Amino acid sequence: MQKRLTKAEIVEKAQALGSELVGFAPVGRWEEFGEVPTEFHPRNIWPLVQTVIVMAVPVWLPIVEAAPSELGREHYLTTNELLDVMAYRLAAFLNHHGHAAINLPRDGYGEAGVLAEKQVALFSHVWAGYYAGLGQVGWNHTLLSKEYGPRQRLVSVFTTLKLEGDPMIAVDLCSKCLLCQKICPSHAFSGDHSMKYARMDKLACMSQAKKFRAAFRNPCGFCIKVCPVGEDRKLFQSTNLKKYFDEAAVLAKDPAAEEYRSWLHIRKYGGYPLPEDPKKE
Ligand code: SF4
Ligand code: SF4
Repeated sequence: MQKRLTKAEIVEKAQALGSELVGFAPVGRWEEFGEVPTEFHPRNIWPLVQTVIVMAVPVWLPIVEAAPSELGREHYLTTNELLDVMAYRLAAFLNHHGHAAINLPRDGYGEAGVLAEKQVALFSHVWAGYYAGLGQVGWNHTLLSKEYGPRQRLVSVFTTLKLEGDPMIAVDLCSKCLLCQKICPSHAFSGDHSMKYARMDKLACMSQAKKFRAAFRNPCGFCIKVCPVGEDRKLFQSTNLKKYFDEAAVLAKDPAAEEYRSWLHIRKYGGYPLPEDPKKE
């Protein structure tokens, strides 16, 4: 008879595969909280699912804050690949132990044109991450974790194995500073502090992404780099958020300003120039 896997064994496997955060969400939480339209509940994708296991890998702040850059694009592609391999292998591990499982890809819409038309992906890993106790949904619609703020990417595994859910995070992580709104180059966010979540113009965000992708310098991620939440800011010694907002004015006066030297270098080599790049002397 096959052995019933424990949560500790599944976490150990997920970590060995490269996951930095792992959480468990019983499917009942989608119904209990009612924030996700029923059409996108896990049971609408696979009726047998009992538990959604969510895994996350961080994106490194020094790379994200130099965006838009080709280095950021490579980093994004690496995390995408890692996530899909991790999720496939964790599903295979569960299946080998007699617990049916499938992996949900980290995006699940194909390509940006499809998302532009449908405006929504097959499944939201952000809400799954919230129900699995990894973090909270911030004003900017990303999952904010204590460890990395919005600077992580997510993937999920569905299994028929019933497991206890992890405690959900009760304290507010999002301070509603609205810096994500202020920095967004496409003005995709609207609303104010009184709203739990911003209104989001997804088409505006996608058209910005398209512009950066044409230069091989996607994703945008400005709303990810600016967020003050996350212990990673201390690790990477980057707590001066004003630097993001002063950049254009400082570079207009001095296109080789020392404090922006590394970002300029990263953006200059790899990918095509963008109209907003500082002009050569
Ligand atoms: S930047 Fe501020 S408002 Fe936006 S998600 Fe982060 S904490 Fe919330
Ligand atoms: S990814 Fe860029 S364009 Fe899209 S909402 Fe965030 S800051 Fe705005």
